[in-house]
Amino acid sequence: MIVAKFGGTSVGDTAAIERTAAIVRGRLSRHPVIVVSALAGTTNALLELAAQSAQGQFIVALRGIEMLRDRHLAVVDELLGDGEAAADIAADVSVLFDELAHLGEALSVLGDLSPRSLDAVAAYGERLSAPIVTAAFLQRGIPATFVDARRVMVTDATFGKALPQVDAIADAAREQLLPLLRAGRVPVLGGYIGATAAGITTTLGRGGSDYSAALFGAALDVEAIEIWTDVDGMLTADPRVIPAARAIEHIRFDEAAELASFGAKVLHPSTIAPAVQRSIPVFIYNSHRPEGHGTRITFDAPRLPVRAIAGRANVVLVNVKSNKMLGTPGVVRGIFAIFERFSLSVDVIATSEVSVSVTVDADHHLDAVLGELRAFGDVTVERGRGIVAIVGSGLGGHTPAMARALGALGELRVHMCSLSASGINLTVIVDGDQVHEAMRRLHRAFFEDAA
Ligand code: ADP
Ligand code: ASP
Ligand code: MG
Repeated sequence: MIVAKFGGTSVGDTAAIERTAAIVRGRLSRHPVIVVSALAGTTNALLELAAQSAQGQFIVALRGIEMLRDRHLAVVDELLGDGEAAADIAADVSVLFDELAHLGEALSVLGDLSPRSLDAVAAYGERLSAPIVTAAFLQRGIPATFVDARRVMVTDATFGKALPQVDAIADAAREQLLPLLRAGRVPVLGGYIGATAAGITTTLGRGGSDYSAALFGAALDVEAIEIWTDVDGMLTADPRVIPAARAIEHIRFDEAAELASFGAKVLHPSTIAPAVQRSIPVFIYNSHRPEGHGTRITFDAPRLPVRAIAGRANVVLVNVKSNKMLGTPGVVRGIFAIFERFSLSVDVIATSEVSVSVTVDADHHLDAVLGELRAFGDVTVERGRGIVAIVGSGLGGHTPAMARALGALGELRVHMCSLSASGINLTVIVDGDQVHEAMRRLHRAFFEDAA
């Protein structure tokens, strides 16, 4: 058994779905469970039209809905042609769009957009793509069965970033997917979406289809989790920033997790954890070039000082400084308790005897957090920073690599720097508008000059 997830560009249009069908046909002997994203660009469009509706611009939103409807129906038409199957799926698609239009109208009457409503709208992307892909597979000889992911992906009610309930998912997966697999069927589910135990639709957060695939894979204890996307695997840097970035053949779980957390969008940051728990290898492949060897993510890739570079902007640096910290145990715990209470996740930490500096993502709770932190000392906030991560499990103790990294940054202003004791990730905080330049310099130093 394997899980294979196809991202938005792998199901973005007729040609992409054809390619995806060919890939799945070649894997039937491995009993695949298929997870699909929304057609490329659909989730962005849905989120935008939800906002437009809630702002009272329902006519504009409706135009967006009709454009999405036309696009989906065109794909159905191209993939399935005439006949009963095409008519059935076109009717199902139309019903979903009618529902969506009603939902948009309701939001415009309310003039309000709660996280719960936003999830209800966002989920239409995968609710549409999965049945369309299933119908296309069936017509191409793949014994596919559509399964509504919301019946398997049980989550809590944290709308927008719902927490999967692993035990309930394992029960549901065994109950709903195993019988299909045993009967030789290929279950097709939408990624990203789930539902609470009470049946309210949720989402796992942007890019969450990778996470869905890993969770289903762990629930079924599959042999491999395959992430099919639009690049040749995990690369030494984001290819949109560094065109010279090259594919990594084999990488460790912990390295991939660090890269995903610090900007490598190719993998949702939560994807690795379920795979690690079950020791399931994760593979990243290019659906546009299925013959490539892709990236294999396991425990045992050889250690390298530097495997890849990642970066992201929109980071806030918070410094708390107080002489009270000198020799007073418990201050750091108190500071972190505040971040925990507001569920604000801290990414990078550096401390001195009298100060604690942390980075967080810009968040609407930030002002409240800052207010409470002032009880501990002087608080300064630096917005518009960026993080650059130099990741390699052999980095700790590899003095030449560390010296090279800092040397490569040259005169770029470094606001903070941190290397964990596990020595896998050297993170550097720079000005947000310098993230790409820092990545270019580091990539040149580690992957281009040496080549
Ligand atoms: P999908 O729709 O298949 O989930 P995503 O857009 O979410 O695709 O992720 C793939 C994209 O991630 C690539 O097109 C690439 O631009 C970007 N990316 C960022 N960093 C990396 C990296 N280190 N390796 C590969 N891709 C990366
Ligand atoms: N469709 C969702 C998104 O665009 C989930 C995903 O593609 O992984 O965020
Ligand atoms: Mg993605």
